[in-house]
Amino acid sequence: MTTQSSAGIVERPTGTASEGFIPFRGFEPGVDTLDEINVGGVWARGAGALIESVNPATSEVFAKLHGATVDDVDVAVAAGLAAVEESGWARKLPHERAAVLHRIGSAIEANADRIAFLQTQDTGKTLKETRALAISAAATFRFTASALETMEDAVTPPRGDYLSISTYEHIGVVAAITPWNSPIASDAQKVAPALAAGNAVVIKPPVWAPWVSLLLARICDEAGLPSGLLSVLPGPGRTVGDALARHRDVGKVSFTGGTSTGRQLGRIAADKIMPITLELGGKSPTIIFSDADLDQAVAGVLYGIFSSSGQSCIAGSRVFIQRDIYDTVLARLVEGAKALRVGPGTDPGTRVAPLVAHAHRDSVEKMVEDARVAGAQILCGGARPAEPELQQGAYYLPTIIAGVANSDLICQEEIFGPVAVVLPFDDETDLLAQANDSVFGLACGIWTSDYRRAWRIARAVAAGTVWINTYKQFSIATPFSGIKESGLGTEKGRDGIRSYMRQKSIYVDLSGAPLPWAGA
Ligand code: NAD
Repeated sequence: MTTQSSAGIVERPTGTASEGFIPFRGFEPGVDTLDEINVGGVWARGAGALIESVNPATSEVFAKLHGATVDDVDVAVAAGLAAVEESGWARKLPHERAAVLHRIGSAIEANADRIAFLQTQDTGKTLKETRALAISAAATFRFTASALETMEDAVTPPRGDYLSISTYEHIGVVAAITPWNSPIASDAQKVAPALAAGNAVVIKPPVWAPWVSLLLARICDEAGLPSGLLSVLPGPGRTVGDALARHRDVGKVSFTGGTSTGRQLGRIAADKIMPITLELGGKSPTIIFSDADLDQAVAGVLYGIFSSSGQSCIAGSRVFIQRDIYDTVLARLVEGAKALRVGPGTDPGTRVAPLVAHAHRDSVEKMVEDARVAGAQILCGGARPAEPELQQGAYYLPTIIAGVANSDLICQEEIFGPVAVVLPFDDETDLLAQANDSVFGLACGIWTSDYRRAWRIARAVAAGTVWINTYKQFSIATPFSGIKESGLGTEKGRDGIRSYMRQKSIYVDLSGAPLPWAGA
């Protein structure tokens, strides 16, 4: 039975524990159906493995979900192709598709508190951060809608009596494979431009955080996105994600996640000769010169590594300090890290929330322990918090490590937790040699009052994004990409939509003049 709520939202019956799953706080009771996934526009309980969602702040299982199967991939992709044709989505005029995207953006914003709460339960992040992610996702849909309406094809300069046009067309079905660390924002970054381009999208959300993608699909339904254009298939990456990427009718994969997964998907793309966008890991340098505003720099470096509990691709996890201020600044960083409040994401005073899962906390802990055994100095953290009320959660204290060389494993591997390594440097040459000695090339922070020097380093450092006297600022209008093993291709920016399209050239004869062999 379904009924219409006062807000015009279709109410579906909610589940009970006796039906095999647990209603969870965060979805509005009576509005959202639990334990249903969207396969090709049809909401139903998945036939795949049970996914138990654990709140990492408490260890409580707060929701259960039956995921998708490999067979669902066929259904979702076929339905996506059919929906593109039957709804005429790709043939709609840009302003018509843009109108739907605007409505999705507004609906995300209207639901920002619910999205935030849900995401905080699922990932442990602070409510402040998850709300900001929801608002950013809304802005992504709106920006993409505006960009879509202003996109132009080109009439290119001809070399004869013909008209030559360079135009863009949709691809068909796009796979969006996403990580757990910023679910709604990374979904929006792919779904908005892919839909804008006229495609259907199949999201493969992360097992550790599937709920927000499902809520996004509900929102898209309510906003009038034609049914079947967006499917959400929660399930293991190595089965469901792999099958999706390999599917013959998936014309592009847009992936955000770890470098090793990205490499596997890149191989599949190579076999299929399929375009792929890869947003991967990082080990970003953040650099403090002696002439920097040290108050700003210390605060910025702490924020750059410890916000999101370090679970950020762009985390400034390698801190380089000029040697003459090394001891002083290191002491200030340690003092600052110790003062950061560790606690649940629901507490407004929390700076460092739990990690996404206990297993992930354990892997961060192991990497720090390995470094300790190898001789690194752990100047703060390097342990779980002692407070009794935090014992159940996946907490790890903000950790600063020194006494290491840039070539050490702890300075080369992405930890994806609240762990910074700190290294001294002598001059620009020494700095660049160390900073660029990494397989990654995602981001960089530079703290100095000398803007010429900032410019030199910004141009010479191997990174897709550089911040000067700031960190982790983002605009959807500014393209984002990683270099080296941090990624392939670009997201965001006005041209983000183009990466979900195929370019086509059309020549139109204008003169009727015979071709060279006519009448031969
Ligand atoms: P992950 O690579 O383990 O998983 C990402 C997604 O890929 C998940 O949905 C997962 O289920 C799926 N997947 C896993 N194996 C797969 C396979 N064989 N085939 C198809 N899909 C598969 O990454 P994660 O742990 O979820 O996320 C953390 C990583 O993401 C970090 O390395 C981080 O740096 C990176 N990241 C990068 C950016 C960026 O923009 N560059 C942004 C956020 C996160």
